[in-house]
Amino acid sequence: MKADLQFDRDHLWHPYTSTTHPLPCYPVSRAEGVHIELESGERLIDGMSSWWSTIHGYSHPALVEAAKAQLDRMSHVMFGGLTHAPATNLGKRLLAMTHPSLNKVFLADSGSVSVEVALKMALQYQQGIGRGEKTGLMTVRGGYHGDTFAAMSVCDPVNGMHSLFRDILPKAHFLPRPVTPLGEPLVEEDHLAIEAAMAAYGDTTAALILEPMVQGAGGMRFYGAAYLEAVRAACDEHGIVLIFDEIATGFGRTGKLFAYEHTHVVPDILCLGKALTGGTMTLAATLASDAIAEGVCASEAGVFMHGPTFMGNPLACAVAEASMSLLATGQWQSQVEAIEAQLKRELEPCRTLESVADVRVMGAIGVVETVTPVDVAAIQRRFVADGVWIRPFGKLVYIMPPYIITSEQLTQLTGAIHRALS
Ligand SMILES: *Cc1c(COP(=O)(O)O)cnc(C)c1O
Repeated sequence: MKADLQFDRDHLWHPYTSTTHPLPCYPVSRAEGVHIELESGERLIDGMSSWWSTIHGYSHPALVEAAKAQLDRMSHVMFGGLTHAPATNLGKRLLAMTHPSLNKVFLADSGSVSVEVALKMALQYQQGIGRGEKTGLMTVRGGYHGDTFAAMSVCDPVNGMHSLFRDILPKAHFLPRPVTPLGEPLVEEDHLAIEAAMAAYGDTTAALILEPMVQGAGGMRFYGAAYLEAVRAACDEHGIVLIFDEIATGFGRTGKLFAYEHTHVVPDILCLGKALTGGTMTLAATLASDAIAEGVCASEAGVFMHGPTFMGNPLACAVAEASMSLLATGQWQSQVEAIEAQLKRELEPCRTLESVADVRVMGAIGVVETVTPVDVAAIQRRFVADGVWIRPFGKLVYIMPPYIITSEQLTQLTGAIHRALS
């Protein structure tokens, strides 16, 4: 089957693209393991895990098998008034993997929706416990939480879409981007910013949302656990629901199963997505503590006011359970450790290049920040010619490969980055 490139150019939107001035697009015929195979016959080593999701590689036999078996039984059934083993099995897995205080699972259809769900839960919780005046949202600069409206309102105001949608976005209060380095105590600047925000908005804020340890699409920046510990204490003091968005960092990517495990704190609500089905299809989950759930159900509505048509889709749940079962073998841990060590070794030499401003590595995430924005179409062509799939944005050339990547394949990725930036 050949993709019709001209039809694609004329009629299909791609993520964040123009239909009047479309950038080149590469037709893919199949994908297996760490390889994306183009219709031209080239096989590219994937450095992106299709945006953090294909952690076990493409077409993993266990995931394919789970999908086929479930497809034969039922691909979908409404979740209102009905339930099924794929959902309950996945729920058990998620609760077993996460902190015991997280005890309720909402199965959402995408990462952005799981963020909407988390924010709505926080607002209904505040109403339910008689703190209905707490309607504000708080977050930090440099974050990314999705493309729907409430999620957009807590994305970074500059590289997010705030100016475009200024008049309709909910207003959030932004703390400065966390600057406490990994492994170091809270820096004074962060301490003062948290204090000031809490003094001004603590009493009117319902929820604070952030990406723990790693800010993804908002800038690929890392920060220390001490910041999260300070934020947890401030939220406790002011009755603010703490939401961790681990849609990108969850399921081993940072070297821990969840990024909050780098800290001594647990959020009240946890958003998961991306790698949940190992990249097979869309599914996300919002986990909450019993206290949050009780508050929500004590609110005027008496129920949580959300329920998508495809909630708890059995096909997606069955594949997610298979993906969780692969993670449960624990093999991801040594794989991510090895990727981290190799990324540190092989990306560090980029630091001396004139075009490079910074190099950072955490877990299976490698980032090379350039001095000026890269020409995406041009660098993309170079990478494809070099046999790799890496998709930079702005000043960020970054990779987060599937955990199953071999050391030789990873060297091809890091080598391609060095060559392209030289
Ligand atoms: C990708 C992402 C989202 C949005 O998820 P979608 O599935 O694209 O809606 C939200 N938060 C973070 C941290 C993400 O990386």
